[in-house]
Amino acid sequence: MEAPALEVVDTDLLILGGGMAGCGAAFEAGYWGRDKGLRVTLVEKAAVERSGAVAMGLSAINCYMGMRHGENQPEDFVRYVRNDLMGLCREDLVYDIARHVDSTVHMFEKWGLPIFKTEDGRYKREGRWQIMIHGESYKPIVAEAAKKAIGAENVYERLFVSHVLTDEATGRATGAVAFSVREHKVYVFRARAVISSAGGATGVFRPHAVGEGLGRIWYAPWNTGSAYSLAIKAGATMTQMEHRLVVTRFKDGYGPVGMWFLLFKGKVKNAYGELYEDTQQKAIAPYAPYDKVRPIPTPLRNHQMLTDRAEGRGPHYMRTDEALQALTMGLDPKAVREIESDAWEDFLDMTMSQALLWASQNIDPAKVPSELTLTEPYLMGSHSSATGAWVSGPEDLARDGYFWGYNRMTTVPGLFAAGDGVGGSAHKFSSGSYTEGRLAAKGAISYMTDNPGSFEHDPARVEEITGELFQPYRVFEEAHGSSTKEDINPNYFYPKQGLHRLQKIMDEYCAGVGANYITNEPTLRRGMELMEVFKEDMAKVAARDRHELLRCWELRDRIWCAEAHMRHILHREETRWPGYYYRMDHPKIDDENWKVFVNSRFDAGNGGWKMSTHPCHTLVP
Ligand SMILES: Cc1cc2nc3c(=O)[nH]c(=O)nc-3n(C[C@H](O)[C@H](O)[C@H](O)COP(=O)(O)OP(=O)(O)OC[C@H]3O[C@@H](n4cnc5c(N)ncnc54)[C@H](O)[C@@H]3O)c2cc1C
Repeated sequence: MEAPALEVVDTDLLILGGGMAGCGAAFEAGYWGRDKGLRVTLVEKAAVERSGAVAMGLSAINCYMGMRHGENQPEDFVRYVRNDLMGLCREDLVYDIARHVDSTVHMFEKWGLPIFKTEDGRYKREGRWQIMIHGESYKPIVAEAAKKAIGAENVYERLFVSHVLTDEATGRATGAVAFSVREHKVYVFRARAVISSAGGATGVFRPHAVGEGLGRIWYAPWNTGSAYSLAIKAGATMTQMEHRLVVTRFKDGYGPVGMWFLLFKGKVKNAYGELYEDTQQKAIAPYAPYDKVRPIPTPLRNHQMLTDRAEGRGPHYMRTDEALQALTMGLDPKAVREIESDAWEDFLDMTMSQALLWASQNIDPAKVPSELTLTEPYLMGSHSSATGAWVSGPEDLARDGYFWGYNRMTTVPGLFAAGDGVGGSAHKFSSGSYTEGRLAAKGAISYMTDNPGSFEHDPARVEEITGELFQPYRVFEEAHGSSTKEDINPNYFYPKQGLHRLQKIMDEYCAGVGANYITNEPTLRRGMELMEVFKEDMAKVAARDRHELLRCWELRDRIWCAEAHMRHILHREETRWPGYYYRMDHPKIDDENWKVFVNSRFDAGNGGWKMSTHPCHTLVP
């Protein structure tokens, strides 16, 4: 293999990932850094204009308080998030998002994002926290503002970041290494502070659809957990990596249900026409006091559906027919068309596949109900789940042990996190992730001001990483002639085959769909044994081209996420979130012993993981 070209880029602040959080960080850093003459650089594996989870398309901003009209206050939001996470959240982080998120949304509107309005000029709400938008232009608008803020020449696209670099003497984050997905080239970025905003993880678990349907999942398939793997490998403490998201979605098309519930007042009924939330109230009684909370926490609603199914009362249907008929009764045809077009837009914006699935199965949602199911698990810190780095909170809110100098800094000095990358604070969604990027950027700029200095990277370390990066090419080159068919070779496997292996282990041993979300200590330990063998075998993952090289590294990301997830589930000896997963050897919620955060830290020096717990403080009564 030819040696790759090498480019070294010097900057002050380096942002890894140009999704919602990364663009928010770039915008804010551009603003505060300009006066100080700081250079801000953003690195993105795709194209910022259409990258990240939002590129799936959205038709709502799911986090907006509406404080200027007195609609909600940050305290209300903290209570809501705490309940949905069944008692365990970093209230300082959640509050911090809530008090700033409205200003973010107002900027989006100023930049041209079309937001639905009511007759009195307020944003039209879909639910208590959600406002409705025409989402097609959302990411391009946000991307343009980021590029303008830091200069388009400082946005590096089509580069996959594989490692954060740290200074050996101080442990401080000093840059990152990336490889181009278009050229045979490695980039080394030298920086004084780094923000990791490289998104959550999908594809860690076997999805419902395999074979011809592979890739049909709910969260963005291109989110492979880099925000977690980069932080873990750099030695950052992680939190709530045992948490996960399993959501109710339209079966196989993965269409979202939020608008049907919130706006159209749709009901989900089982095969016998019963409202399972009513018939299964008994199923959540053991999880008091959270059984009485309204809205019912997401995992408990899942638990009700699973219990109903286990009692033989499935399938479950969203009664789109009843909802639309009730909404349109007595209306003139024009008004009916408007409602129907709202209903369709939600799917055409966000989940084209749902519209296609309906068409292919002859389903007219106004006449026929549609099956719902629970998804495979996803790991993310910005949606309704809370995996990610353990970060410092803001100085004025953070309680004992929650503050170490700079808002959103991880436990690695100079390494900040935002969006899906931050743990313990769910329900940020697109607007909250952007807001958190802004907060992280301000923290990072203060850090650089207080801690000047520039760094040289150890050339031996960079060479070592470069060697690792292209190892899959060498594996292929050396062995592909040793069998008559490239695809069947005893000396290597392709990343797609590796992905199937990872997903099988996670599904069967770590409470995936196939295991009905159930596991226990012996099952997890067996899964971890298999994972160790798999990790060894990863030395034999092969790439034929650049596309597969990227897949190899995405697979590595997912393995890091999988391992952290397993270790955390093993450590937490309770079932706090039934409906997400069940530790059947500890089937109950145990507030007395486990109303704490589970944290972990990987030590690259000895390859070990250190698990710990941290108290959960209450900020809002
Ligand atoms: C199907 C779906 C529906 C959703 N619905 C809504 C909704 O209705 N309303 C709402 O407000 N929110 C919604 N969300 C949530 C919202 O999209 C996320 O909360 C938000 O995008 C998270 O921001 P982030 O910056 O952390 O991650 P992302 O926006 O996903 O950004 C991560 C970025 O990092 C890049 N990246 C990843 N790995 C690397 C790497 N190794 N090197 C370089 N770059 C990398 C990615 O390409 C991406 O650009 C939805 C998400 C999905 C997937």
